[in-house]
Amino acid sequence: MKKNVVTEVVDHELCIGCGLCAALCPEEALEMAWNRYGEYNPAEVEPCTRGCGLCLKVCPFADHEEDEDTIGEALYGSVPGIGHRSEVGYHLATFVGYADEHRSAGASGGMATWLLERLLAEVIVDHVVCVAPTGDPEGLFSFFVFDDPEGVRTGAGSAYYPVEMSGVVRHILDTQGSYAVTGLPCFIKAIRLAQKKNPKLRERVVVTVGLVCGQMKSRPFTEYIASLACLPGKVKEVRYRGKSPDHPATNYHYAFTSTAEDERRIFWNDGIAEAWTNRWFTPKACNYCDDVFAEVADVTFMDAWLPDYSRDYRGTNLVVVRSPLIEDLIRRGVQDGGILAEPVPVEDVIRSQAAVVDVKRRHLAHRLYLDLEMGREVLRKRVRPAREKSPLLRREIALKDRMRRSSRAFWAESEDQDAGRLREAMGPDLKRLSRGRTTAWIMALPIRIVIYVQGHLRGNHHE
Ligand SMILES: Cc1cc2nc3c(=O)[nH]c(=O)nc-3n(C[C@H](O)[C@H](O)[C@H](O)COP(=O)(O)OP(=O)(O)OC[C@H]3O[C@@H](n4cnc5c(N)ncnc54)[C@H](O)[C@@H]3O)c2cc1C
Repeated sequence: MKKNVVTEVVDHELCIGCGLCAALCPEEALEMAWNRYGEYNPAEVEPCTRGCGLCLKVCPFADHEEDEDTIGEALYGSVPGIGHRSEVGYHLATFVGYADEHRSAGASGGMATWLLERLLAEVIVDHVVCVAPTGDPEGLFSFFVFDDPEGVRTGAGSAYYPVEMSGVVRHILDTQGSYAVTGLPCFIKAIRLAQKKNPKLRERVVVTVGLVCGQMKSRPFTEYIASLACLPGKVKEVRYRGKSPDHPATNYHYAFTSTAEDERRIFWNDGIAEAWTNRWFTPKACNYCDDVFAEVADVTFMDAWLPDYSRDYRGTNLVVVRSPLIEDLIRRGVQDGGILAEPVPVEDVIRSQAAVVDVKRRHLAHRLYLDLEMGREVLRKRVRPAREKSPLLRREIALKDRMRRSSRAFWAESEDQDAGRLREAMGPDLKRLSRGRTTAWIMALPIRIVIYVQGHLRGNHHE
């Protein structure tokens, strides 16, 4: 069989399901389809006879000479005044802020929706490609092409749900005009790789809007949380970033509607956090991602997870800008009152995502080391394989990876997909993880005492 994205990526469970391979395959041999774990993968609908390898050249998880550093340098390296940090990639300007008009519907401060609308209003693009709900229980979200602000607004919010781009990329190739595209870091990387190979994509996709990403989730993640929220029946709609005045921004809720029009909601602290932070239902590809900040996007939006902002339930954005065009739009938006934004040090932006940076750099280094040790193929990443020094963190990485694998298998194999039963199955590993954290806390106690005593002697304690 000729080497292609199925043999080299899907069969190694490294596909994130972006769909660029299927859109660009010259033989139209690939179609995106759900796999048994509720993730999108390309499937061969025609035998691959040519073996041209284009599918691998545009795949964000295939082995490439190119990485986010080299792609980013070619795009932004010569922009006057631009800086570079290994964690964020290139950064021309960094802001904190929100868009009043879009804040309540937006995932964070609504600035992404504001920008997409502004791009249309100023005819910088003719079309916006972003994600919106479908109302279809078999695929709750999808990429759409919108030509007006009303359409763009239907996409406000984050979709923690698999979506794939093959349909919209085919549309871009078939339909003239200029496009802005939203995407997670790996999706934007796939677009950048595809733009190198395809002049139409290079010419037509004129703005890329990235979202910071800690991890993707498979379809069962939503089914699991709906079950945890006691939603009877099938999910027809979900809104992942519900805001309520009596909870800080960090404790947002998911609001579900079933096919029978039942409604339930559940807060982050009531079970979502457990599944999210322990990497239940996370695709394996996410374990091999080293891009937190969508480094090859013209602009990247994220939550302002900093104490000064995360208490405000209405949500606030941090923004990394790499393109002068977007910087100009944001500055003009501040002047005309469309948004409220002010500069913020890039260090604060990095600090806001410290936990994600740790996972995508330090944890990744250890995972690559384990692959090396086990004689498995070691993926080429910007992080080098390195054995983690802390035994407690080594254990945490191993436990979370086991929970990732077993949650994925549990939902696929179980006849009765019940949240209670999944939590029961995860119980022993959760206990081990919690014991590890208690040990870490006890081990750090002498240091805490020294810091406390030093503070006391300096007289900066509060009684
Ligand atoms: C899977 C995932 C993981 C994330 N992880 C983090 C994280 O760890 N830390 C963090 O600070 N932020 C993370 N984000 C980003 C965050 O949730 C917000 O999307 C971001 O702050 C923008 O908020 P906003 O209010 O400006 O966007 P909005 O105004 O709500 O607009 C968001 C835009 O993004 C589009 N969109 C939503 N979901 C997707 C998707 N899956 N793929 C492509 N486009 C999409 C929408 O169509 C909309 O146009 C994540 C987002 C996703 C989807």
